[in-house]
Amino acid sequence: PVRTRIAPSPTGDPHVGTAYAALFNLAFARRNGGEFILRVEDTDRTRYVEGSEQQVFDTLRWLGFSWDQGPDVGGPAAPYRQSERLPIYREVADRLLAEGHAYECWCSSERLTQMRERQQKLKIPTGYDRLCYGKTREERAELPGFTEVPVLRMLVPADARIAFTDLIRGEITPPQPDDQVILKADGFPTYHLAVVVDDNAMGVTHVIRGEEWISSTAKHLLLYRWLGWAAPQYAHMPLLRNADRSKISKRKNPAARLKWFQEEGYLPEALVNFLALMGYSMPDGKEIFTFDEVVESFDFARVNPVGPVFDIDKLNWLNGHYLRALDDDAFLAAAEPFLPGSLTAQDIRTLVVPLRERTKKLAELPEQLGWLAAETVEIQPADLAKHGLPPADARAALEAFAKTLEALDPFEKAQITASLDAVVAESGLNRRRSFMTARLALVGKPVSPPLDDTIVALGQDRTVTRLRQAAA
Ligand code: ATP
Ligand code: GLU
Repeated sequence: PVRTRIAPSPTGDPHVGTAYAALFNLAFARRNGGEFILRVEDTDRTRYVEGSEQQVFDTLRWLGFSWDQGPDVGGPAAPYRQSERLPIYREVADRLLAEGHAYECWCSSERLTQMRERQQKLKIPTGYDRLCYGKTREERAELPGFTEVPVLRMLVPADARIAFTDLIRGEITPPQPDDQVILKADGFPTYHLAVVVDDNAMGVTHVIRGEEWISSTAKHLLLYRWLGWAAPQYAHMPLLRNADRSKISKRKNPAARLKWFQEEGYLPEALVNFLALMGYSMPDGKEIFTFDEVVESFDFARVNPVGPVFDIDKLNWLNGHYLRALDDDAFLAAAEPFLPGSLTAQDIRTLVVPLRERTKKLAELPEQLGWLAAETVEIQPADLAKHGLPPADARAALEAFAKTLEALDPFEKAQITASLDAVVAESGLNRRRSFMTARLALVGKPVSPPLDDTIVALGQDRTVTRLRQAAA
């Protein structure tokens, strides 16, 4: 059976690349009636961040992804956290040592740095120079740059044949690896050992991951060969890129953080659609589709290996589409966390629902509603000239609106609507421009919910004050 996995490292805010990998791994597994595993790769203790693992679970679940095996759901290959599997790696490392595929290395980090600098200066390939290979501890201890606790390194033969057939890219021959560390001085395995041991133990059949791991695949294939295990098939996804082709990264791009999309008010189905569009194309070329449609059509031949440009404008466009497809209640539920606390339930319904038509992401809502709580509102002369009445007429109309609305009792929508109409009829001024002048006075910009709803939400006092201030 097909079994795929993602293997995030809990090193901070979840990376959008993790969601990207999850999407393709899950789609391929579902397409083939297989299973999808989430494994936590927490062997790098220096980069470990508390709480990061839970954030990975939460953000992936928010996207609608679920896994058949994992630290939080269990499964036949448990545990799914590498830090809980140390004896398993140790046993395999010992076996590699005993069978001559690995050797101990006591070089200090200072010595390794000097070695690398020398190699760079001489312009020879960088890589471990095997100072420790074939030496006993005592022999090595005589030489400089010795540390007490050794690491284990792979003994990579010079003629290691490491070509493989990538499901997306075809035949690949990664560069010859040097003698990689597989077991660290702290007793933890490195990524290379742990990933091979676990993919094998968990029965992973297809490894779908970012292209930056291609050179690692050579090391992994060597380990499979030495251990006599069948290697999985590999598919290396393109990396998401900026317009200048640099890869998007958390240091440079806020959008590399998965939580950014939640904070900005993107809908999970829009983000999933967007991520799928990055590198995948539907058979009929359509751009708006669900995850289930990706699953139905999934084929590695449809993945473009060229790094897709991570185009936020496209995401905004898609998100606007998904927002408009929501009914009132669903839109309000999605909008709710973004709304200023001061709004009443009625305000929310009358003011927020109309915004659905022109909202690209929900984090825009407070800005669009800022006029409601604003201390003062200013009319831009250019807006007045374009949409409103000439200044003298504007002052007269605003005063007339203020006077009528001030006296209105009860101050309710039907009465407000009727009295606005009456004021305009009596003045003989252009109706549309009169209302637009009032809107500019109340909201400060030419777009807002319908005028009567706007006035209801502001209430009598604020409405009259704003009209008078603008008339002055
Ligand atoms: P940075 O983005 O600054 O490199 P990081 O060091 O936390 O942040 P990594 O550990 O390099 O991130 O990556 C986390 C996961 O996201 C890895 O599985 C990696 O393959 C994937 N990834 C990183 N960058 C990209 C990208 N530009 N496109 C797709 N996947 C990516
Ligand atoms: N732990 C690696 C990461 O952070 C896993 C890479 C892989 O999928 O092999 O992405």
